[in-house]
Amino acid sequence: MRIRRVCNGRGRRYYAWRGAYRPAPEAVPAGDAPAQPAPCAPDTSPNPRGEAMVFVNDTQESFADNVEKYRVQPGACVTLANYDPRDTGPLRKKQAKSLLKTLGKRLNTLQELLYATEEHALLVVLQGMDCSGKDGVIKRVISAMNPQGFQVTSFKVPTPEELAHDFLWRVHRRTPRRGMVGVFNRSHYEDVLVGRVENLVPESRWRKRYGAIRDFERILAEDGVQVVKFFLYISPEEQKERLEDRLADSTEHWKFRAGDLDTREQWDAYMSAFEAAFEECSTEQAPWYVVPADKKWYRDAVVAQVLANRLDGLGMEWPALDPAHADLAVE
Ligand code: AMP
Ligand code: MG
Repeated sequence: MRIRRVCNGRGRRYYAWRGAYRPAPEAVPAGDAPAQPAPCAPDTSPNPRGEAMVFVNDTQESFADNVEKYRVQPGACVTLANYDPRDTGPLRKKQAKSLLKTLGKRLNTLQELLYATEEHALLVVLQGMDCSGKDGVIKRVISAMNPQGFQVTSFKVPTPEELAHDFLWRVHRRTPRRGMVGVFNRSHYEDVLVGRVENLVPESRWRKRYGAIRDFERILAEDGVQVVKFFLYISPEEQKERLEDRLADSTEHWKFRAGDLDTREQWDAYMSAFEAAFEECSTEQAPWYVVPADKKWYRDAVVAQVLANRLDGLGMEWPALDPAHADLAVE
């Protein structure tokens, strides 16, 4: 018989026989933060240039603080049923679109600072069910940055060579060097998602991967890689519509794979696997964010704001002119 880790209340954990214990999902009033064991601490880090603080409503509440409610606190028990994929927080579509433009400019500057200072790298991990918008985020958020400064890797079914190595081998070689942004469209988490749901490896192997992932991400963080992980959370209803669109639109047929329907049939098993991944691997250094993704415009605004928060928090400054160049004049 298999056991599954479950949580009880404020981050306390115990093990129970599979299915024996599951906290009842609590109703969350519309517009409130998803229920979490501990409230997210507001990000009080100084904002060096004061540009990323965008006020979005009459109470002058900052969206920069607002999005931090989607961060999964280390040790938190995650019940996805407590999150609303249709949530649009304090934003309306028009506001979100103009906010995204502002944040795009900010991200462009921050990426240039990252490149110029060469002290940090940024690794953005995108996960989500089919049609959740991983490609959309790359197209509409990441693209605001200079293409010379980021590298996208899309992880597919492992090749025989990749399978012949440890599961982190193909991932580690695609992590960004200092100064660069790396974007993972799917990632090492597939090995505890599809790997777990489809029993691609025995449970004794995929269970150990959570610890390996925590160690791997800690090593990256300790060596200057800022790791931010997004779960783009769509509802099964929204996915149905998007899959139907793919079938109906001849310009989208190429995106459709019959296997997507098999994955969809296992929705609950995937949600449990995602919950376990967040509980096991959302850390202070490499947090998971559960992003409501039914509304593309809100999803994009949240991702852009979280990235701006993280990069702003680094307090990067433009490198000073080399003193050796101080007396030079351009004739
Ligand atoms: P897509 O991102 O829609 O092009 O699909 C990529 C496919 O590759 C998905 O079905 C993933 O589940 C699958 N995939 C990615 N990484 C792995 C992995 N480590 N093991 C098995 N399947 C994977
Ligand atoms: Mg696909």
